[in-house]
Amino acid sequence: MKHPSKVIIIGAGIAGLASAIRLAVQGFEVTVFEKNNYPGGKINHFFLNGYSFDVGPSLFTQPENLQELFVLANESIDNFFNYQNVPVTCRYFYEDGIILNAYSDTQQFAKELREKIGEDSSKVLLYLQRSSRLYHNIGDIFLNH
Ligand SMILES: Cc1cc2nc3c(=O)[nH]c(=O)nc-3n(C[C@H](O)[C@H](O)[C@H](O)COP(=O)(O)OP(=O)(O)OC[C@H]3O[C@@H](n4cnc5c(N)ncnc54)[C@H](O)[C@@H]3O)c2cc1C
Repeated sequence: MKHPSKVIIIGAGIAGLASAIRLAVQGFEVTVFEKNNYPGGKINHFFLNGYSFDVGPSLFTQPENLQELFVLANESIDNFFNYQNVPVTCRYFYEDGIILNAYSDTQQFAKELREKIGEDSSKVLLYLQRSSRLYHNIGDIFLNH
């Protein structure tokens, strides 16, 4: 089938932008329409009473998907932004005053859960091992297809 040479994409969220890049590198003339006055869609944040709130994602998962787009576009990701692993991926503040640190180190996270909310560390580690196994066995099917 012959491809039309022009493509219109509605929405400059991450999905629209990723699609636009993929199509543009294939030679399509791509125009992206966005109703907001900024790109990114849910990838945004706002400030209220001195605090910053994420509208959507707080965690940067699967950076390889983003890297793939830059490789496709023949651009260096380093020219746009850089990132690094952080020791605490999330910090949860509960109304009763408990502050829970989600350490990226699983042993440390299990220890944190035991100390702060009395959760059995062995159960936490088992749960994380099961999640890891699921991710490695079937993650590709669900996330990339
Ligand atoms: C609270 C929350 C937490 C999340 N946390 C995570 C996380 O930690 N990690 C993670 O990976 N993902 C997370 N997600 C999911 C992630 O935010 C979304 O999957 C992703 O941002 C969706 O991108 P999208 O481009 O599909 O949609 P959107 O970001 O919604 O983009 C759609 C765009 O289309 C525009 N648009 C819509 N209609 C029109 C129109 N008629 N004309 C012009 N423009 C239009 C909108 O303005 C918007 O900019 C979270 C989502 C939410 C809501």
